[in-house]
Amino acid sequence: IVKPDGTEKNVIGEVISRFEKKGLRVIALKMVKLTKKNAEGFYVVHKERPFYGDLTDFMSRGPVVVMVLEGDNAISKVREIMGATNPDDAAEGTIRKDYASNIEENTVHGSDSPESADFEINYFFNALEING
Ligand code: ADP
Ligand code: MG
Repeated sequence: IVKPDGTEKNVIGEVISRFEKKGLRVIALKMVKLTKKNAEGFYVVHKERPFYGDLTDFMSRGPVVVMVLEGDNAISKVREIMGATNPDDAAEGTIRKDYASNIEENTVHGSDSPESADFEINYFFNALEING
């Protein structure tokens, strides 16, 4: 997901391009504006965290671009290209190092396991929208 700060920063194309250049393929893509409830449902795994309210306000403040990326080791590859959650800890050349504002407004989201990818893909896309 290109998060609201990423769409505000006008780096949708830049983010997608970084994934494509590393061999990942976009097989589903759309821009949506989440409601607060949509954001809460998406991040339900974090509902006990102190930042849950702020995070779901942030994720619903502007449009996001959601996509499904396909490729060998896609989950770990995507997370490597994104960089660490906190941009202060992110490696040089990662999306978060280059574009994130802070630990919350960190430009991109990526699934962290096959199980979360399954939940997250189905949260946004139906079978007709996935071209894998
Ligand atoms: P990641 O997105 O790298 O998988 P997490 O799953 O731990 O990171 O957290 C989900 C999202 O919640 C982060 O990407 C970030 O937007 C936000 N977040 C995480 N930790 C904090 C924090 N300490 N304060 C504010 N927001 C946070
Ligand atoms: Mg996570």
